[in-house]
Amino acid sequence: MENPAALREGLTRLEKRETVGRFAPSPSGRMHLGNLLCSLLAWLSAKSTGGRIVLRIEDLDAERCPRAFADLLEQDLHWLGLDWDEGGSAGGPAGSYYQSNRAEIYEKYFEKLQKAGLVYPCYCSRSQVRAASAPHREDGTPIYNRHCLHLSEEERAALEKKRSPAMRLLVPDETIAFTDGHLGPYSEYLPDDCGDFVLRRGDGVFAYQLAVVVDDALMGVNEVVRGADLLQSTPRQLLLYRLLGLQAPRFCHLPLLLASDGRRLSKRDGDVSLEVLKEKYTAPQVIGRLAWLAGQLERPEPAAPAELAKIFDWEKVPKTDIFLPDDLF
Ligand code: GLU
Ligand code: ZN
Repeated sequence: MENPAALREGLTRLEKRETVGRFAPSPSGRMHLGNLLCSLLAWLSAKSTGGRIVLRIEDLDAERCPRAFADLLEQDLHWLGLDWDEGGSAGGPAGSYYQSNRAEIYEKYFEKLQKAGLVYPCYCSRSQVRAASAPHREDGTPIYNRHCLHLSEEERAALEKKRSPAMRLLVPDETIAFTDGHLGPYSEYLPDDCGDFVLRRGDGVFAYQLAVVVDDALMGVNEVVRGADLLQSTPRQLLLYRLLGLQAPRFCHLPLLLASDGRRLSKRDGDVSLEVLKEKYTAPQVIGRLAWLAGQLERPEPAAPAELAKIFDWEKVPKTDIFLPDDLF
């Protein structure tokens, strides 16, 4: 039967190209305020335009990210009122939303790159890579000097007996430029600023760069809101989207939330983990203070996510590092 109202709504959604944002936490501990701020803004950005949120658990490193932490993370997000529409333990159309269960999917895309002749084995140990890489990226990652690209067949065969290699992507000689939805233009000349990066580690675990691209594409994510520490990963990811023929999302990188003395917040900082926050504050208090830090409220007063979605404004989100006042939490 024809249902004009439903049809109209479907069409409007299509025209609007509904935003699909995501939470992509790596649950190697309890969430801290920095993770929370990212989750809140990803949620607000999607919900303020009537969009949806996918929850994907980035537990590629399964030993560091036990299932118990992922379960706690879901409880914490529920407690905060940051609900998601698809994924997590409830699953959804993309199958499992735990990266630790998706190796077969990554394998297929990895093989595509391999068939295109863009992948080569690297037998270097971590310290060899460090020692042989003169320039390092700003984030400290060494830029690989392509030592193993030039190995002879015999050398390769000999090394193969000693260790199983990591697999690297041969980056093309080009600049990848894009405009970040929040921070503006950013570009990298791949050979000098990035280098050939790892797609699969020696122990067979696929790298974050490949998994995140495949997952965001297959899960229909069209808006990625995350910390500015990942801005430098974006050119690599845009390259993979193109090589794999996948549609890239819009990226919005957020300033980092730092302690008042400028140190990076980490999961080890018990003072700002949700475990402690939950004992001292209500969820609206935590949300309101974060929204204030993100420029959305005049005062750090309690607020509900759904109320904030009505007034959310990207223009008000700071563009430089946010310092956490000592007396805020
Ligand atoms: N899993 C990453 C983290 O928790 C985020 C990856 C992303 O947003 O692309 O830091
Ligand atoms: Zn190597």
